[in-house]
Amino acid sequence: MRAEIVSVGTELLLGMITDTNAQYLTQQLADIGVDVYWISQVGDNLPRVVEVLDRAFSRSDAVIVTGGLGPTEDDLTREAIAELMGETMVVDAELERQLRENFARRGRPMPERGVKQATLIPSAKALSNPIGTAPGWLVERNGHAIAAMPGVPAEMRLMWTEQVRPVLRERAGASVLVTSTLRILGIGESGVEERLGSLVRGTNPTVATYAKPDGVQVRISAKGADEAAARELLSPLVREVRNLFGENVFGGGDESPGALVGAQLRRIGWRLASAESGTGGVLVAEIAGDPALAPYFRGGLVMGEAGDPFGLDGASAPEMALAARAKTASEAGIAILVRGEEPVASSAVSVNDVSDTVTTSWSRGRADLSRRAAIEALAMLLRVLKRAG
Ligand code: ATP
Ligand code: MG
Repeated sequence: MRAEIVSVGTELLLGMITDTNAQYLTQQLADIGVDVYWISQVGDNLPRVVEVLDRAFSRSDAVIVTGGLGPTEDDLTREAIAELMGETMVVDAELERQLRENFARRGRPMPERGVKQATLIPSAKALSNPIGTAPGWLVERNGHAIAAMPGVPAEMRLMWTEQVRPVLRERAGASVLVTSTLRILGIGESGVEERLGSLVRGTNPTVATYAKPDGVQVRISAKGADEAAARELLSPLVREVRNLFGENVFGGGDESPGALVGAQLRRIGWRLASAESGTGGVLVAEIAGDPALAPYFRGGLVMGEAGDPFGLDGASAPEMALAARAKTASEAGIAILVRGEEPVASSAVSVNDVSDTVTTSWSRGRADLSRRAAIEALAMLLRVLKRAG
């Protein structure tokens, strides 16, 4: 089943709000195995909303609309659907009663134009809105469906979860999407894609790459009649991708780098210290902020800009990692050093008499570079720890 999301509101086109509704709905639709082929945003303008809905309705099995259901002149979603269906909006007595009751309960008079929210067309079924005023509409015709929900995210989510999702789920038939993400370090995105070869052209499972500050993500997704069937398709491919990248695989998307390192530290019974300069403290934050790693963390040196209190002025990243170990009596040390106008990062690890370092540059600014360097340092540490103890 093919779905399309339409977000209505001039605020979106002016950049005043971000389309979090569409983001939420794409995840939800993927969850129930519905493919999203298009997302459109359109302003509060009747002919243009009609145009977008017309195209969506003819090419997609389900159209999910949010926004434009309020009582004001510029809320035009109902009018647009009525025009598209060639039907006339009429006030529904029961909806009007509920609406008036809703206002009365809050002790507010209902503005007369508010009655627009109690209208329906013959093809539409009302979707109740227990936490707002505007009901939604569900319209079904010729095997296609349009669901129109309020723009207010909390109202939309509740209506989606309780009234729209179950209908689409039923229509989509039992179909489940499962996804697994692997993080690859030390190879650029195009290098990763090249090594994946023809795997990126598969349709079920699908394999896709995304460049992120903490590595290249390889996302593998499979669809099946139920979860077991989907996993059966997914698992061999995940193994294949793991084998392709070997030591460059640094955990999955849902498995933190810290969890992998923490498991090794626990195994060997070692503790960790860190040092960093020019990073805004990301290394300490990455370590201390990860509950799987924090228990093994002795402490971290964060060098500021107003002079160096640790006697590390001019030290290299490996020297910093060694110093962090020495100052905290820890068995393992990692360090990152970020320097320069177009910043370059060095990440280092120090364990026993082994020390190792790697240099990274990253075009997306110092904050992302620092985070990347922190992940590189943890990845190096993981490699060393696996051979230690
Ligand atoms: P209302 O009855 O409040 O007018 P509505 O259904 O007419 O609801 P809109 O007027 O389009 O919805 O939007 C109301 C508010 O909901 C917006 O000001 C915005 O804060 C939020 N909103 C609308 N659309 C979106 C969206 N696509 N993503 C996130 N927030 C949105
Ligand atoms: Mg509105």
